[in-house]
Amino acid sequence: MIGAGPAGSAAAFGCASLGLRTVIIEKSKFPRDKVCGGCISPSGMQSLEQMGLDRQVRHSAVAIRTFALAAGGRMLRVELDQDGVAIGRDVLDSILLEHAVARGATARLGTSATLESVCADGCRLAASDGKGTRTLNAGVVLVADGLAGTFLPRDGEWSPHVASRSHFGVGARLDRDIGWALCEPGTIAMRCGKAGYVGAVRLHDGSVDVAAALAPDVTKRLGGPGNAIRTIAIESGLASAAESLANVRWRGTALLTRRRRVEGDRIFVVGDAAGYVEPFTGEGMSWAMAAGLGVATHARAVCSGEYRAGTWTLEWKWMTSRRRAACRMTSLALRHPALISASLALAGRLPAVCGYLASAISGPWRFSQSEPARA
Ligand SMILES: Cc1cc2nc3c(=O)[nH]c(=O)nc-3n(C[C@H](O)[C@H](O)[C@H](O)COP(=O)(O)OP(=O)(O)OC[C@H]3O[C@@H](n4cnc5c(N)ncnc54)[C@H](O)[C@@H]3O)c2cc1C
Repeated sequence: MIGAGPAGSAAAFGCASLGLRTVIIEKSKFPRDKVCGGCISPSGMQSLEQMGLDRQVRHSAVAIRTFALAAGGRMLRVELDQDGVAIGRDVLDSILLEHAVARGATARLGTSATLESVCADGCRLAASDGKGTRTLNAGVVLVADGLAGTFLPRDGEWSPHVASRSHFGVGARLDRDIGWALCEPGTIAMRCGKAGYVGAVRLHDGSVDVAAALAPDVTKRLGGPGNAIRTIAIESGLASAAESLANVRWRGTALLTRRRRVEGDRIFVVGDAAGYVEPFTGEGMSWAMAAGLGVATHARAVCSGEYRAGTWTLEWKWMTSRRRAACRMTSLALRHPALISASLALAGRLPAVCGYLASAISGPWRFSQSEPARA
């Protein structure tokens, strides 16, 4: 297993549960944070339940009851009828990794791996931990190394296809004194502007997780991610909080919307490493955990010589294609904040538009009630 994010740890849990000897190689030392909105949708909670972790995760998380979308000084609030949660990635990923280890997987943290070769009976990897490089052999490799993973070669058959006009991700964890105005507890607050959109959510310790998807060209014109996020706050009606964001140190990601092939000889790819669409509805971790749990039986089939090539590719497409298409549509609409703002104005007058917008923005979260408000 390469990578101990939600995809890697769920896959390791699945493989260890099937009795496969499972080694997780992760380049960071844990706990580590990551650019992410930190919201787990109800379908993600189902994967956690499948692993027996839902109660533990809820204990360290904040239940999400409301989704709010603001653009051009207008806002739509959507009350949710199933509770997903918000949780810091330092906490969630440690819980998932510990659980996989308790199930029998072995973890090598602070170790980065690259693929050396594949032959008839296995894969050969180079694993470097800062003290030296060792060669390891594995019957199957599950690649869960995220958007910018370095395990597979970036050229040739594994090269990712990155969508033109893709946004990139930016995020930070803010102290409660700085982030309090951005969102209320239990609310995912999304704000749209010309540079992209920003989501904020309160975590269990009172800190605020802020994550944004930004257009590279507009961000450059505005002078960088900090200015882009402040501009979005002002455009969406939150001028009062914009200055508090002035000294935040933002972390960035690679371009977000991408796909690549998801299997090769003795290799399966899962999670963001397999493909990703922009994060507006917060589903990446849910897709990653579901894929991680789903791929384990295919890994076992390879080990027992019963795998039929292409099965994982079909299953992965079946699992993700419908929601990915919906996310792509939402992300295209979000490229036009004036359109969103006009729709929010219309939603104030027409309940049908309000309901349509509520269902589009709540995505897999399912809403019970929606109401227009001032941003
Ligand atoms: C701005 C933003 C907001 C988001 N908000 C949400 C949200 O609210 N809800 C949601 O569900 N999703 C959200 N996502 C998506 C979510 O973060 C990802 O979909 C999720 O982290 C994917 O998990 P993963 O396990 O595939 O990859 P990752 O979590 O990226 O884990 C990959 C791991 O692999 C390790 N690694 C990389 N290369 C190597 C190597 N060569 N050797 C060893 N280890 C390696 C990395 O250190 C990392 O720990 C958001 C993403 C962005 C960018």
